[in-house]
Amino acid sequence: MPNIVVAGAGLTGLAAAISAREAGADVVLLEKGSRADVGGNAAFSGGLFLFCYDGAEDLTSITQDFEPGMHAEEIVAPPYTREAYAAELTAMSDGQADPKLVAALAERSLDTVRWLSEKGVRFTFNRTVGAQVRDGVLHIPPGQILTSTGEGMSRGFEVIKPLLRYAEQIVVELRWSTPLVDVVREGERVTGARTPDGVLPADAVVIASGGFQASRESRLRHLGPQWEEVKLRGTRQATGDGIAAALRAGAGPAGVWSSCHSAAVDPTMPAPERSEASPPFPLHGFWLGVLVNRDGERFVDEGPGPWVKNYSKMGKAIMGQPGREAYEIFDQRTAARVADEFAGAAVPVSAPTLPALAECIGVPAEALVRAVEEFNRACREDGSTHGIEPAKSHWAVPLDRPPFVAYHAVAGLTFTFGGVQIDPDGRALASDGAPVPGLYAAGEATGGLFYGDYPGGAALMRAAVFGRSAGRTAVTEALQRG
Ligand SMILES: Cc1cc2nc3c(=O)[nH]c(=O)nc-3n(C[C@H](O)[C@H](O)[C@H](O)COP(=O)(O)OP(=O)(O)OC[C@H]3O[C@@H](n4cnc5c(N)ncnc54)[C@H](O)[C@@H]3O)c2cc1C
Repeated sequence: MPNIVVAGAGLTGLAAAISAREAGADVVLLEKGSRADVGGNAAFSGGLFLFCYDGAEDLTSITQDFEPGMHAEEIVAPPYTREAYAAELTAMSDGQADPKLVAALAERSLDTVRWLSEKGVRFTFNRTVGAQVRDGVLHIPPGQILTSTGEGMSRGFEVIKPLLRYAEQIVVELRWSTPLVDVVREGERVTGARTPDGVLPADAVVIASGGFQASRESRLRHLGPQWEEVKLRGTRQATGDGIAAALRAGAGPAGVWSSCHSAAVDPTMPAPERSEASPPFPLHGFWLGVLVNRDGERFVDEGPGPWVKNYSKMGKAIMGQPGREAYEIFDQRTAARVADEFAGAAVPVSAPTLPALAECIGVPAEALVRAVEEFNRACREDGSTHGIEPAKSHWAVPLDRPPFVAYHAVAGLTFTFGGVQIDPDGRALASDGAPVPGLYAAGEATGGLFYGDYPGGAALMRAAVFGRSAGRTAVTEALQRG
């Protein structure tokens, strides 16, 4: 029976460990954090999975669970095809995403959601990404359903809990507080994993230890000085250890190392700690109002498309502003909805006039009034704007119903985009494209899929799809090598 060591008990590592175990290996899953850290970023996530389906039947074959108010006898769910998924990922990476990884992600997504569901992960129909009941019919926009349980939008721990339970049931050996320190390679082949307790002999090692966003030094080096101090939205453990170990063992780097996923967050938000604690909700309401910097100027199209396809770049846009801060501004048309659905526990500032609001938040009043008045004049019937720079492409409605409301926002770093080069089966590849025998990687430890932008739900899907593939490939190839 092959011995497989998986490094990292996030979604990628759990998927890899379970699939390796199911393929017949003895599996040790190393986790740098304690048991209370299980799940990595997924534990703090919204639990959103982006996957392909051919219609409502594919969805109801996964779940019959409807959140309150979403139940309907009829479901209209236009197909979200493999081609559409691939086209979306490719477009959002400006054509840079590795087409083989894109195709594999799209192709295996539905099957992998079913696989997760077999392991006990529960999905539900909900309104978060635009599902709506109209005239007794549930309309699902192409893409995305969420995990079932939990309040609010940080439900990711509900994905992790059943997988951990399942991994323990099938006897994956979990070693908490035991980081991978290095990959041991003898000649051509990987032969073990070094931990602080010594070397664990292994026929294969799977790197599933996440990105490097939690390392100040790596942020400075790759993302730039403005990212040295930043709020983390997820795990404190993802310091790039596994990526570095894989590169030392001969794997090549892939993807863009100077970019990341970053959302707008409340600066007073505490960084998340234990996995079971739901993290503060990010400020995703930008699309319902305008974003201004501390000089009172708009600086970004707040509505280029659905928020779920755009929130990952709002943090980066804010990071480029004076003082690395901004304000989301609303009026009474949308303030209640923002507070209910898109701001979590963040406390806004409210004032009866724009100059009074400007004074409360310390922004030049004249500039803020000018920016909002220009914006109001530019709003068109169809929700776009005319004649302002930057435009607001959708959901532009005048801000003219006081009191006005402002949320203070800074960048919150979710994860980095650069990592180990892999093929679609999770083999770690050297810079010349040749596999490093016995070395595999998946999830946020890898590069090549996400570049400037990112469609919400594709990261959990990537973790599950490629984690599962890497675990299986590791066992198949270990058996072949004998
Ligand atoms: C707040 C938030 C919300 C999100 N929401 C969504 C969403 O709704 N949909 C979506 O698609 N994506 C979402 N994401 C992204 C998604 O959660 C991640 O892309 C995915 O979970 C990454 O999984 P991973 O296992 O590859 O990496 P990680 O989650 O980073 O897991 C890596 C694991 O490895 C461990 N580790 C680190 N170093 C070592 C070492 N040396 N040895 C052993 N173990 C080590 C870490 O402790 C961690 O447990 C969100 C992320 C955050 C932070």
